[in-house]
Amino acid sequence: MKTEKKRYKIKEFSTFFLALPVLFCLLFCNGCGKSFQKTVTTFACDTVVTITYYDKKDEKAVNDALSYLSELELVFSRTKENSELYALNEALHKGEDFVVGKDLYQALVMSYEAAKESDGAFDFTLGNVSDLWNFTGETPHVPDAAVLAEALSHTGYEKIHLEGIFVTDAEESNPGGIVSSEDASLSVDLGGMAKGYMGQKLKEQLMEAGVTSALLNLGGNVVAIGKKPDGTKFQIGIAKPEKDSSEYVSTVGIANEAAVTSGIYQRYFEENGKWYHHILDPKTGVPVESDVASVTVIYRDSGMADILSTTMFVTGPDYAETYVKNCPQDITVIYVMKDGSLKEFSNK
Ligand code: AMP
Ligand code: MG
Repeated sequence: MKTEKKRYKIKEFSTFFLALPVLFCLLFCNGCGKSFQKTVTTFACDTVVTITYYDKKDEKAVNDALSYLSELELVFSRTKENSELYALNEALHKGEDFVVGKDLYQALVMSYEAAKESDGAFDFTLGNVSDLWNFTGETPHVPDAAVLAEALSHTGYEKIHLEGIFVTDAEESNPGGIVSSEDASLSVDLGGMAKGYMGQKLKEQLMEAGVTSALLNLGGNVVAIGKKPDGTKFQIGIAKPEKDSSEYVSTVGIANEAAVTSGIYQRYFEENGKWYHHILDPKTGVPVESDVASVTVIYRDSGMADILSTTMFVTGPDYAETYVKNCPQDITVIYVMKDGSLKEFSNK
């Protein structure tokens, strides 16, 4: 059978890991004296991952989802030397084009579009700059200004080129694509969206396997499948954005949606009395300085919710208000400001 390959060039694209748990799932078993409930916990993608399910027959599907998570980690990890993303960055650093599979390609397309739409506030090419801050390492520190400026000159979503591959007679309409960059010093970092993307993929696989009620938590990226067995929404707590705090400032109910938070207290270090968190202003390469302590996005697609939480942390509430107003899908955005006040935008 002949396979005809056709490429299309994405000339213009409009568009993003790791955090300690931000949202704490409040799993109330309202009057369900008889019901089954089990939570499996694993450590993946540098964070704690839990899946709570409510039907014994879902055990195999949940175990399969955990194996799938390990596979996805080998796509998106920026630090594991055997990951696909690692290989992509290595190829880009040699000035070579690189063929990526469906998941990495789809995540890159989403990220490129989000970078364009947010005018670069969401920037998945900040890898070199993030490396200098080293938030995930043992010794994070404020980088030297000249070194930071040099790293920042090798960023920019518009320097990434994505070329989709269509295989017309294949079952798969999106087998992946070719990634290239004119800047051999640029590094892709999907930390702003990868956990959300993975959560969405796990949800889809679990639903295909017949799971109708479950809650996934990938280090604070919470994804709901359906509702709780008693028909009520899952209640998610929005953490008080303070060091080591286990208090909530608010709770939200979600059903078949994701709730994703970006905040100043997820990954940070203190140097000379100053707090440095991991969400960077792509214009300066330094952590965003604003009145925002955290932002939580509730949206049906977890990957997009993750992209939006990072974006809206960078842009601030005015952008979010307009975005929510114009968004054709249901969306709720909740900011916790540093003074403790809340700002909520919703089109529901
Ligand atoms: P999140 O916790 O989803 O907001 O993602 C934060 C992570 O995304 C950081 O640890 C970096 O890996 C990456 N990142 C930092 N700043 C940005 C930005 N402006 N746009 C996209 N990704 C970013
Ligand atoms: Mg994010």
